[in-house]
Amino acid sequence: MKLISAVVPCYNEEAAIPYFYKEICAVADHPRLKAYDFEFLFVNDGSSDGTLALLKKLAAADRRVRYVSFSRNFGKEAAMLAGLTEASGDYVTILDADLQDPPSLIPEMIDYVEVGDETGKCYDCVATRRVDRTGEPPIRSFFARQFYKLMNRISKTDIVDGARDFRFMTRPFVAALLELKEYNRFSKGLFGWVGFETKWIEYENVERVAGETKWNFFKLLLYSFEGITAFSTVPLALSSVAGIVLCMVAFLALIVIIAKTLLWGDPVSGWPSLACIIVFTAGVQLLCTGILGQYLSKTYLEVKGRPVYIIKEKNTGVPGEEPTKN
Ligand code: UDP
Ligand code: MG
Repeated sequence: MKLISAVVPCYNEEAAIPYFYKEICAVADHPRLKAYDFEFLFVNDGSSDGTLALLKKLAAADRRVRYVSFSRNFGKEAAMLAGLTEASGDYVTILDADLQDPPSLIPEMIDYVEVGDETGKCYDCVATRRVDRTGEPPIRSFFARQFYKLMNRISKTDIVDGARDFRFMTRPFVAALLELKEYNRFSKGLFGWVGFETKWIEYENVERVAGETKWNFFKLLLYSFEGITAFSTVPLALSSVAGIVLCMVAFLALIVIIAKTLLWGDPVSGWPSLACIIVFTAGVQLLCTGILGQYLSKTYLEVKGRPVYIIKEKNTGVPGEEPTKN
């Protein structure tokens, strides 16, 4: 029997988990999927509400429920990595706890991997993207769109607009992802980077079932910097180009000034333009130093080699073995 691991990152999802659990059980218990075994791997990302207690309760009643609990909040990227690492299934899928990633799509995803599409082509990974952004603040949608446009222009890795982290992956695909040991993880890019055959399926945006979103505008902005620095070095090249262009402009200006002084002898006028030039060049220099700093800081964190997350407790055992209950 093939095992499907459903990885669920949870951060203060006490309100949403009961709905999620009901929904995923309905899928797992459906006669259509009786040939598959399931494990529901919840990753408690340092929740401050009753998430962990709830997970323990579920685990005590259902052997399929496994949990990994972090020592503090490490972020969704860390939670997904922990889930992929701990998952022992032949197939692994990642879903949000808020039901924005409908578990009901899983049977269709299995078909794409095992049976193939209309032409009989089988895939290593089935990914989802939402076709609309209803229910999202317009300003957030606008910046999100611009981010994807920019990313695809400056990065070789394809990063799909509206792509969710909701995926169904085969074991070789997961193994490839786990090979990537980087500390600054931007999964939306990593999924594309590892390659393999990916089938994209689309669905309409669903609003979260309960609880609140964990992302604010500032957090998303920082996350987008992460994406840019992790998948493109174009900003570094741009700052070099800006430096070269400014040098050329300065050189031309120098020639003009010398010629002007020799012809007309005009030593004092022109300080306003000088002030502008100084401020402008100082601004460009700071911008470029800032860009450099972004990459340097990522390298710094990378070099330190700190673990991406720290597990405080878990009930996932050695792959294939029954979980040890506490
Ligand atoms: N999440 C997490 N750690 C965090 C933030 C979020 O594990 O620091 C989880 C959260 O519990 C949820 C998923 O990531 O299952 C997506 O978060 P959310 O629904 O808040 O994001 P949105 O759908 O609004 O983009
Ligand atoms: Mg959500």
